[in-house]
Amino acid sequence: MAERLGFIGLGAMGLPMAKRLLGGGFPLLAFDQNPAALQALVDAGAEAATSIKDVADNVECVLVSLPTPDVVKIVALGEGGVCEGSRVKTFIDLSTTGPRMAESIATGLAEHDIAQMDSPVSGGVGGAEKGTLAVMVAGPEALWDRYKPALEFIGKPFFVGETPGHGQMIKLLNNYLSATAMVATAEAFVVGAKAGLDPDVMVEVICAGSGMNTAVRDKFPKSILTRTFDYGFRTELMHKDVKLAMEEAEALGVPMWVGQPVKQWWAYSLARGGNQEDFTHMVRYMEEQAGGVEIRSRRNAPKE
Ligand code: NAD
Repeated sequence: MAERLGFIGLGAMGLPMAKRLLGGGFPLLAFDQNPAALQALVDAGAEAATSIKDVADNVECVLVSLPTPDVVKIVALGEGGVCEGSRVKTFIDLSTTGPRMAESIATGLAEHDIAQMDSPVSGGVGGAEKGTLAVMVAGPEALWDRYKPALEFIGKPFFVGETPGHGQMIKLLNNYLSATAMVATAEAFVVGAKAGLDPDVMVEVICAGSGMNTAVRDKFPKSILTRTFDYGFRTELMHKDVKLAMEEAEALGVPMWVGQPVKQWWAYSLARGGNQEDFTHMVRYMEEQAGGVEIRSRRNAPKE
């Protein structure tokens, strides 16, 4: 029988990832501070823990998918955190925290004889549901060998190396590119809408051409042309990722000219829409600045 694993943080990403592990035959002991989120996984077959420490007292390996670096730090090293667990030996962090936070958590956990594998993921909620995420793993190679079979139910795991934080570094660079593509694509489609182009035709042409990226291929058709703005990733998290990438670049002495306006766009969207809004709303603020154009599919629209 597969090893029983702990899972903490059952939000937009955590819940589908945990369900994939259950589906792969891994029994789970789970916890979330939101009882409804926990119940959703219990309904899928997991056992509910009463606290973070309860998880860490009863399994050797705890996976977490938590919103921000500070929350991961509290869950890992705070009072009643994973570090106080009597049984836990491995902490697999699927969240995006940035390399320096990953390093500091690894150091803190090592004092309690717990090894960290920073293992952030990319591919969105759809990828989490389908088990097609890219998983970027940094940590001790022996643990990679041990937990790779479990991570394969979440997506495609890549071993980045043993240096703590290197999984996070690749993840931030990946998301910097994704965040930049989103802003640039919004600009291109706003210009197209103003010029009178059909946005569905723009998607088809660009996907067959050299401008193709994940915003044009996935995000615009699913959540913007439909005006549903429901892709499943919050502006707050997008802003966090770009900010963390810029901080790393600055610490390494690399100027990021393009990153500055990209970060500004996400900061502006966050100021406009608040913490909980889906990141695709950013396009609405850009449409507004262009004089109120709308990037809306004309297909299946009611005839005037
Ligand atoms: P989310 O806010 O939907 O989920 C976070 C979950 O953690 C919530 O259920 C919340 O109740 C729980 N939680 C928060 N604090 C807790 C605590 N102290 N103890 C126990 N549970 C706690 O966030 P998400 O979108 O699932 O993202 C999770 C992580 O994955 C983030 O680091 C994010 O940057 C990263 N990520 C998200 C996506 C995406 O498309 N949503 C893609 C790749 C990576």
